[in-house]
Amino acid sequence: MYILLMGPPGAGKGTQAERLIEKYGIPQISTGDMFRAAVKEETPLGLEAKKYMDKGQLVPDAVTIGIVRERLSKDDCSKGFILDGFPRTTAQAVSLDAILKDLNIRLNGVINISVPNEELIRRTTGRLICRKCGATYHTVSKPPKQEGVCDKCGGELYQRDDDKEETVTKRLEVYAAQTKPLIDYYKNTNVYVEVDGMTGIDAVFNTIVSSLEKGK
Ligand code: ADP
Ligand code: ADP
Ligand code: ZN
Repeated sequence: MYILLMGPPGAGKGTQAERLIEKYGIPQISTGDMFRAAVKEETPLGLEAKKYMDKGQLVPDAVTIGIVRERLSKDDCSKGFILDGFPRTTAQAVSLDAILKDLNIRLNGVINISVPNEELIRRTTGRLICRKCGATYHTVSKPPKQEGVCDKCGGELYQRDDDKEETVTKRLEVYAAQTKPLIDYYKNTNVYVEVDGMTGIDAVFNTIVSSLEKGK
């Protein structure tokens, strides 16, 4: 299953990817997670990406496309993957088409999760992530059983630097200007599905799975 998850910051892409990994046994390719790992390790890529991430801006296309191209050509992607947070610009979408063509892959679903801005601010500013396994929680809508501790692996939970309200506001502007136009890029393909992200996590997941299984 080759799945592309789209949607603004906080829509629930990572949360749904976690569930889809379990169901289909395919890897999640999250450019945000890849950049955060590089920032943590202070690699040249990380140092470059951090300049943009701290300001809520997009990392330049050339850098981002390069890491995705490399990642998608790895063996574990040959039976399927979940792209989360890529593409985010038209140039990235055009490059993705070329990469998929080279690999002889067709997407099974382009899932666009839509959520109004007010709720996106609530979701991102309350988001907590596990340092060890990357699982996502929310202080109000999905609290861990024990405060500050991951249910799955016992790891420590932290708040992303860019989930502060002022950076979130900037990211929502960047989304509207640079990423939202991509909806038109995919809208007329027969794999595009818009999912209401305002229902619960389970309900969103069921809608995604049924649209994928329909082969839509
Ligand atoms: P969210 O899950 O809130 O949408 P991500 O974890 O996907 O956020 O992205 C965090 C940051 O990483 C972005 O604000 C941007 O700086 C950078 N980033 C992630 N994916 C891309 C991409 N495809 N193109 C450019 N920058 C990206
Ligand atoms: P994205 O990857 O699109 O930026 P996340 O999956 O990280 O979004 O979710 C953002 C926040 O919203 C997290 O704290 C998550 O627990 C919460 N969340 C995700 N989906 C829902 C939902 N359907 N209803 C309520 N909260 C949700
Ligand atoms: Zn964990």
